[in-house]
Amino acid sequence: MSICNGAAGFRGRNPKGIFIHNDAGSQNADAAFYRNWLPTHPLENGFAHAYVASDGILYAEDDAYCAWHCGQTDGNTNYYSIEICQSMGDLEVFKQNEENALKLAAQKCRQYGIEPNTSTIRLHKEVYGTSCPHRSVEIHGGDAATKRHFIERIKYYMGDGRNQIINATIRENSGADFMRLKFEAVDSEDGIYRIRDKANGYLLTAAANKADANVDFRGFDCGEYQEWKLINKIYKNARYTMLECVATPGLYLSVESNGNGGKNNLKLYTDLHNMKQKFYIREESDGRTLIIHAFSGKCVSAK
Ligand SMILES: [Zn+2]
Repeated sequence: MSICNGAAGFRGRNPKGIFIHNDAGSQNADAAFYRNWLPTHPLENGFAHAYVASDGILYAEDDAYCAWHCGQTDGNTNYYSIEICQSMGDLEVFKQNEENALKLAAQKCRQYGIEPNTSTIRLHKEVYGTSCPHRSVEIHGGDAATKRHFIERIKYYMGDGRNQIINATIRENSGADFMRLKFEAVDSEDGIYRIRDKANGYLLTAAANKADANVDFRGFDCGEYQEWKLINKIYKNARYTMLECVATPGLYLSVESNGNGGKNNLKLYTDLHNMKQKFYIREESDGRTLIIHAFSGKCVSAK
């Protein structure tokens, strides 16, 4: 059960839009603070579904229930509500919270089929005598500009309707941007990296935690499914690297059918002790990296 316990009633249908708030709270009013504060104060004074702060997101109410967040019946009943926290605190912290709130809004828009526009993405002050969202309005230069910014960023995080998934394949080295990869260290001591293609800025991603799952490139955050541990091996005079996905221990990047028979897809597989999982990692003069399949000599590509 949520911490607000369905206090404002069951909606019984999907939200039709999202209200975005600024909490007018201090630097200390983070998610942990609201987790303690909400159950010890009358909810009639107001609460939102989600509180986005520097320490994470507090989901105070389940999506299927209403929230008393904007002092107007239609808004309270029919909209999802997000508080951007610490709005009286440090500017950089607030801006990061705002960005994370817009990511959450994008996730909810995708989930509920909400198209972000001026009637679905709402500011508290549109329906009530308040300056909320005060800090966002101050930063973005007024109400209309703030709405525009919110809608733009939500669309960006939704991929603007595009499906932000691209196949991961092996291809002949053509020097193209879709095979020039950037290794971003998550933990360089342990050899763990995120691997981003230059053409799209998408991350190499394991689609599921099971053998034979697809591997692709994605333009949205999938956590440890986008973290790869480089395991360097030496066999006689040959050196090669295996890539184990952090979210799927024991499963390694593999080339389907070793690239034979017209196959060029990348998959996850248990350690096969064969060439399908052996790669050379080669740094190029522009600081980008090629992942070269040892057997075929082809490069991992986002295409
Ligand atoms: Zn508000």
